[in-house]
Amino acid sequence: MKLLELADLDAELSRLDHRRRALPESQEYDRAQAQNAELRDELATLEARQSDLTRDQAKAERDVEQVRSRIERDRARLDAGLVSSPKELENLQSEIASLIRRQSDLEEVELEVMERLEEVSQRGTSVAGEQTTLAGQLEEIGARRDSALAEITEQSEKASDRRAGIAAEIPGDLLGLYDRLRAQHTVGAAVLNRGRCEGCHLSLNTVDLSRIRAAPPDEVLRCEECRRILVRAELAS
Ligand SMILES: [Zn+2]
Repeated sequence: MKLLELADLDAELSRLDHRRRALPESQEYDRAQAQNAELRDELATLEARQSDLTRDQAKAERDVEQVRSRIERDRARLDAGLVSSPKELENLQSEIASLIRRQSDLEEVELEVMERLEEVSQRGTSVAGEQTTLAGQLEEIGARRDSALAEITEQSEKASDRRAGIAAEIPGDLLGLYDRLRAQHTVGAAVLNRGRCEGCHLSLNTVDLSRIRAAPPDEVLRCEECRRILVRAELAS
């Protein structure tokens, strides 16, 4: 019976379609891509921090340099013996002492900035490495996904071709009815086997069954429950 072959092919096509949509390789690819986007975001954040810290480092260096040159200037004045008054000498020595403390504090700040910069730069290198690894994985998963999709497409095309050949042999109005039912049920025809519709799995009542038994072989029968076209098992092969 051509209608059942058609129903089998439609079931296969819908299985293939489902496989295509639920392909594990596609999900794997999507997950890897989401991970890639996270790494890209993290790298952008790290680059922004690196640029902030580089600016902080330059400022810290300038601050240290400023204090250092002032200390040198003061010491030069001291060494040149230009300061003679004891009061002024004491002030200068006290200023130098305070500048040295200040220099040490500023150098501490500079060191902290450098340490943070080093951390950020190390993390950046590690994230960039992860990205490279992931890019390779994405390529590999993508290739597997594409070949799985190509195989499904090939099977779908074969089934579609067979379906077109069979559909051409089914009378137009019967095919039209089948297609309308298929839009509602996925599969538009089912076998009637031992008094049971294999589409909705419900048993027909005795009245319907005896009417069906009495019907001529070419009459189009419908299941009273699911309205699928019923193909009598004894006529199915
Ligand atoms: Zn039914």
